[in-house]
Amino acid sequence: MSVRELTPEEVALRERQGAGARYDADAAPHGELALARRGTAYFARKLMELSDDELDAPSLLPGWSRRHLIAHVGYNARAVARLVEWARTGVETPMYASDSQRWDEIVLGSTLPARALRHLVEHAAVHLNVEWRDLDDAGWDALVVTAQGRTVPARETAWMRAKEVWVHAVDLASGGSFLDFPDEMVDGIIADVFRVWTRRSEDVALTVRPTDRAEEQSFGEGGLAVTGAAADIARWLAGRGARRLVAVGGDELPAIPRWF
Ligand code: ZN
Repeated sequence: MSVRELTPEEVALRERQGAGARYDADAAPHGELALARRGTAYFARKLMELSDDELDAPSLLPGWSRRHLIAHVGYNARAVARLVEWARTGVETPMYASDSQRWDEIVLGSTLPARALRHLVEHAAVHLNVEWRDLDDAGWDALVVTAQGRTVPARETAWMRAKEVWVHAVDLASGGSFLDFPDEMVDGIIADVFRVWTRRSEDVALTVRPTDRAEEQSFGEGGLAVTGAAADIARWLAGRGARRLVAVGGDELPAIPRWF
């Protein structure tokens, strides 16, 4: 572990927390971890606003009840924790042991009593956080393989999880909104969608001009320009529908590829 001089604020914080508290390694992706942790709290808040009976209703994901979605978010934390464990120990532990495991878990988890379902989400998130806290500087650069088969450094697990908790909090359909997201999350989603399209060599051209940002972002050449609040653009690019967006010089928004 590398040694860095603590700021007076950090010294004061550590004194308040006591000797037993643990901290992220210096080389940890601090910004993405902060987004994942805030998103976890946001998801928990949106879940808390639903009664047990309301969990049976549909989520915003086609064919998924809120129960399916909640089980998925819980088991996703466990799957991401397996990647972090892999980075820490060097012992290969993939997100899912088989192609069917992910969906089987969701289906089975969705039948849990409401209380158990809520506990699953909470405990899996705490466990993931412990794995992150225990990862040292070298561990954050250790290579792991995602469920999509991409080889990535363990530091990517923080952003992977941040996307899950923020976007699925909206999918819960309990009043969550992209308008609640921190700016870095909104901008990160827009950049992420374009990265995924690049990876898949999607044949699409588009410029997005967020009215509340200084810069526009383009994908491909000569595409239509779409303008609106950055949060609404992120929502649309994430496949969650178009709201308050305008295509410059055209009457209809262009069709766009899926994100995942
Ligand atoms: Zn998901």
